[in-house]
This record gives sequence, structure tokens and C-alpha cells, in this order.
Amino acid sequence: MKKIKTNILNPISSSQVEYLKNTFLTIENGKISSISKETKTSDFSDHSDCICIPGLIDTHVHLSQYFIRGSHSSNLLHWLNTYAFPEELKSKDLEYAKKVARDFFKDSVRKGTTTSVIYTAPFKQACETAFQIAREIGVRAIIGKTMMDCNSPDFLLQDTEVAFKESLELFEKWNNKTKLLEYVFTPRFALTCSSKLMQMTGDFAKQNNAYIQTHLSENHEEIRTTLKLFPDCDNYTQVYEKFNLLGPKTILGHVIHIDDNELDIIKETGSKIAHCPDSNFFIKSGEFPFEKIKNKKISFALASDVAGGTSISMLNVMKMCNYRQQNYIVSPTEAFYYATLCGAKVLGKEKIIGSIKVGKDADLTFIKIPEIENKEKENILSELVYLGTERKIKATFVAGKPVFQS
Ligand SMILES: [Zn+2]
Repeated sequence: MKKIKTNILNPISSSQVEYLKNTFLTIENGKISSISKETKTSDFSDHSDCICIPGLIDTHVHLSQYFIRGSHSSNLLHWLNTYAFPEELKSKDLEYAKKVARDFFKDSVRKGTTTSVIYTAPFKQACETAFQIAREIGVRAIIGKTMMDCNSPDFLLQDTEVAFKESLELFEKWNNKTKLLEYVFTPRFALTCSSKLMQMTGDFAKQNNAYIQTHLSENHEEIRTTLKLFPDCDNYTQVYEKFNLLGPKTILGHVIHIDDNELDIIKETGSKIAHCPDSNFFIKSGEFPFEKIKNKKISFALASDVAGGTSISMLNVMKMCNYRQQNYIVSPTEAFYYATLCGAKVLGKEKIIGSIKVGKDADLTFIKIPEIENKEKENILSELVYLGTERKIKATFVAGKPVFQS
């Protein structure tokens, strides 16, 4: 049993946050067992110089691109060909794959992220290594081997059957075999995946209640080329619908240039969206229709999209979520919600993680706030969203275990 004195900042909804000052948090068997104003014991860790927030959730990130963060480009397809694809090739080498995975997860927990939904390079060994290191460090992760079997550079191209078979093997070996790790089927996007590969993936994932992730409507050229490849589809979203890739466990990255018919398909199928504002800014992909998608009640959450995004920090992503919107004002309460509780909802894990509540797993991030005793809830929340990257993260816990301590 572990007892901690701290100040809890907890997301309730997109318009509500609670702040519990000088509160005692008890952790037992990886779960939060009590939250109280008083304690009878003097045996507790004192984190009263910190706020304690739920561990941050990154719903879309490319682990194998971690080392090329900040590589400038004018557009997505140029960026992929110049930086991302050659970098992913390097993870064919086991030692390189180990180094990138270790550095990625260490940085991730250092920045307060406890759950990540990950694309690895299209090599089985790169994905396998990511799982092993995630287990070793103790993070919560949903990891998939990127699949691409056409219209790709030769060095990343896979045979259709092999791409699928390796994914199945990884799914069998890692999905829900340990408490914190799951597999996600990962066809990169319609441009680099054959109809056969998408159909096999969609059918299997649906039958086995598995996660699927892919990219949708990030860039105009990507959309035009996709529609040329699939002339029987009226729009990009229909391509994924046709191959059975949409559903409640599907996470669609980006979804920027999208019309009402497509949003209706996303809503009807219960598919989810990973919104990546830092990446959208950096690669100049465009503005996510935040207000429209929110009003349509389609479930979405925030993501770093490293290395399309420059930083793995979800504190940075929260800030960018506001900055990227020209007209809609994303409040600090909203940004915080979309990086925590709503992230958990997108993954169907809101009963387990996403907020600090008795019975939930103790995925927690402790962040030092100067002069915390003199600050009100609104000031602290705003500081978290706009200055969070400048604040020191003191500790990160996943299921009650410290995975990072400064
Ligand atoms: Zn991406």
C-alpha cells in the first residue's frame, strides 16, 4: 500500500475539472483505493508541491520515427519520402530498433504519458522489440506493426500474405497477454495497402474484437491519389468502410479534410479519431474541424503523431490544440479532458484509466507547480496547458508503479 499527499486535478467532462487541494491518495494493488482529506498515518510520500493528474494518453504516435522529430518539410508526402520512410528502414536492424524503442518509452514517461497507441516500422522484429521494452519499462501501450504492401518504397514493401501473417503472430503473442499491452492492426493508409490486405485485416479484427488504426484525410494530395486508386468509392472514408475497417475499436488519425457524409459514416460505425494538432501545424496539413466534430458527438482525443508532430509531450499537444484552431476557442478544461479522460474513452478504457477515481488503475503524473499553495484551480489548469512543458515532472506511475521519478 502506498499513500501520497498531493493536489489532485481531475477531468470530469469537456467543461468541468475538479481540484482537490492537499488530499491523500492511497494506492493498493495498482489501483486507487481511497481519496481523502485526512489520514491517520504519518507514513506518506509528500507530493504537495505538485499537482497530480491522470497519466496522459497519446492516441496516435509513430515510435520508429522518434529520432527524426523536427525534420522540416513543406508537405506530408514529401516528408514521408524524405524522412519517415528512410528512418523506418533503420529499425530493420535489431539494435537500432531496441535503441529507438527504449529512448521513446523513457522520454514518453518522463513527459508524463502513461498510455500510447503506437505504429512501429513495418518489420516484425521492430514491433516485437517495442512490446518487449514497453513491458520492461512498465508502460501501458497498444502497439501495431505498420502494414504496407503497395505504392511504397521497395525497402518497406511487404508481401500481402506476409504483412498479414506477421501481424497475426504479433496479435496472438501480445494482445492482452499481459495487463498493460494490446495489439492494434495497423494498415498505414489506403495509399499503401491493397484491397486484399485491408479486407483481410478488417474481417479478422472485427471477428476478434481487435483494435485497428490507420490515417484518414490528412492532406489534399493524399485524398486525390486515394480516390484515383479506388474509383468506385465516393470519398476516402468509404474506402475504409468498404473493407470493413471501421468500427468502435478503429482509431482514425487526423480526419482534417472531411465532408458531412464522411462524418456520418464515422459516427454510424462508432469509429474514433486521433486529433494531432502539432503535426497538422508542422506539416501544414490543415485545421481539424474541432467544433463540427465535437458537435456531431464523434469521439476523438489528442495525439502527438511524432514524428509528424515535433514533440512527444502531450502537454505540448494540449497547447497546440488551442493554437491550431483559428476561430474556435479550446478552453484549458477541454484540452486537458481530450488528453486524459476522453483519450481513455476513445480506447474504451474509461472505466480503468483517464481520471483519478477510487477503483481505477493508478496511472498518475505528478507535476511541480511553483507557489502552488497560492494558486486557484483556473490558474493551475491554464498553467498546465500553456506552460506545462516548462514545468518539472516529478514522477509518473502506471498501475501504481513508478515508471519515472526525477
Ligand atoms: Zn501518423
